[in-house]
Amino acid sequence: MMRRDSRAAEDDVYDVVVVGGGNAGFSAAHAAAERGRRVLLLERGPAEEAGGNSYYTAGAFRVAHDGLGDLADLLDPDARHAATVLPSYPAADFAVDMARVTDDRNDKALTEVLIGESAGTLRWLHGKGLRFRLMYERQAYPDGEDRHVFWGGLAVGSTGGGKGLIEQHTRAARQAGVELRYGVRARELTLDEGRLSGVRWQDVEGRDGAVRAESVVLAAGGFEADADMRRDHLGEGWQRAKVRGTPYNTGDMLAAAIAVGAGTHGDWSTCHSVAWDAWHEDNQSNRELTNQLTRGGYPLGIVVNADGRRFLDEGADFRNLTYAKYGARILAQPGGVAFQLFDATTRTRLRAEEYDMPGASVVIGNTLDDLAEGMGVDAAALRGTVAEFNASIDRTTPLDLSVLDGRAAAATPPKSNWAVPLERPPYYAFPVTCGITFTFGGLHADTHGRVLDGAGEPIAGLFVCGEMLGGLFSGNYPGGTGLTSGAVFGRRAGSLA
Ligand SMILES: Cc1cc2nc3c(=O)[nH]c(=O)nc-3n(C[C@H](O)[C@H](O)[C@H](O)COP(=O)(O)OP(=O)(O)OC[C@H]3O[C@@H](n4cnc5c(N)ncnc54)[C@H](O)[C@@H]3O)c2cc1C
Repeated sequence: MMRRDSRAAEDDVYDVVVVGGGNAGFSAAHAAAERGRRVLLLERGPAEEAGGNSYYTAGAFRVAHDGLGDLADLLDPDARHAATVLPSYPAADFAVDMARVTDDRNDKALTEVLIGESAGTLRWLHGKGLRFRLMYERQAYPDGEDRHVFWGGLAVGSTGGGKGLIEQHTRAARQAGVELRYGVRARELTLDEGRLSGVRWQDVEGRDGAVRAESVVLAAGGFEADADMRRDHLGEGWQRAKVRGTPYNTGDMLAAAIAVGAGTHGDWSTCHSVAWDAWHEDNQSNRELTNQLTRGGYPLGIVVNADGRRFLDEGADFRNLTYAKYGARILAQPGGVAFQLFDATTRTRLRAEEYDMPGASVVIGNTLDDLAEGMGVDAAALRGTVAEFNASIDRTTPLDLSVLDGRAAAATPPKSNWAVPLERPPYYAFPVTCGITFTFGGLHADTHGRVLDGAGEPIAGLFVCGEMLGGLFSGNYPGGTGLTSGAVFGRRAGSLA
């Protein structure tokens, strides 16, 4: 029996209600609106805190492509294109990366759609006024001939990063007639004879209400911002992780969907988490600095824990394929902190956006002993670690940051690529902790985003996309895939809703 709310206005009836105003929700709203559906988007955050995790992103979208010529129609003009080396990134390579980083635990049917529709979906968004560019500052290195060489498969980003992405999505949705309501928290899903019939909500003033709709698209993010859910699903200690993005993704709609019979899918015990400024006083959900609190330069240096010891292979693979699992490794260290170490040589190659961020935490020392003192780490232990590392480097192999160069250090643990000795003062230590990005577990759905119940049957009228869609990632994640997933499956859900 459908539950009606006495305070719901008579006309609070829509064809489609989308819950969540991030990249996935907007993509679903665009797709439903272009089919002439009357669409309402409910967003928990007030307008000045809107955009979900998508707002905080660097705007990186991983797409399969055949080089610059293939992408040119999608990109803003840029004088650098003429001096750009952009290797193609075939669908098969994208598929290998997905399987490799997840240890083959990725849902193959979802992955195939994700990859197959990646570039086409960006073109569709482009047609709605969203803008894209090549991410020279993050994904390319200059070579010796003044060319920009892209590495690692990820190249396309939204113009203006996450902030630009949300601004452009919002404008496109308004132009298409989507109604946007901010500061409205969906609390419950209502059913009418087994079919979704609407959403009950509460606004920032505590007023309750309800909307009725033929279809509901859930795009309300994971449970990364809820400390108790993190501890329950990810394990003891995760309540101390820093929330990189929105404080509003607290798993509301996961719980609401499960309450109406939705099945779960994917890996609920792991998440995306990164190295994150540990000492900055405002290092959670910071809307000014957003992604700048990330510390992604570790492939150039070494990472030590509070005992002064290395504990991971900083050069195991391209940063895009390791950064999302190293937050968890840091959380597991004593005190949940670590330090990224560089010397005067490597420091110059770190990305200014992150390492020269206003207020970036750093310890600088003219000797390793000075550095250790500032870090609060035993000086002899640190000296020993650096000496072992420096002595074990294969210095005959040339350094090349745009490929897996095999310039290894045979230390314990080994560093597989890009090993550069720490030998030129001053020395730099950047304190890092675990910043959680988003959770991997979600709802069970088919490749059109139709939510399936425990028996694998669709729940009529209920769709899911974005972080809430379970099955794509486990343990790790290839950078730039979250936004692509939200766009591809948001579009698919909105095309049927
Ligand atoms: C710092 C940072 C950098 C990142 N960089 C990248 C990147 O460059 N590329 C990439 O692919 N991915 C990146 N990610 C991951 C990416 O943000 C997510 O994968 C993607 O944005 C998820 O989109 P979404 O629409 O599912 O969720 P979100 O964008 O988080 O949107 C969910 C929305 O739902 C709302 N909501 C939650 N509960 C309710 C409720 N009960 N009622 C109503 N609304 C609700 C939230 O307020 C939020 O606005 C990054 C994440 C962070 C935090």
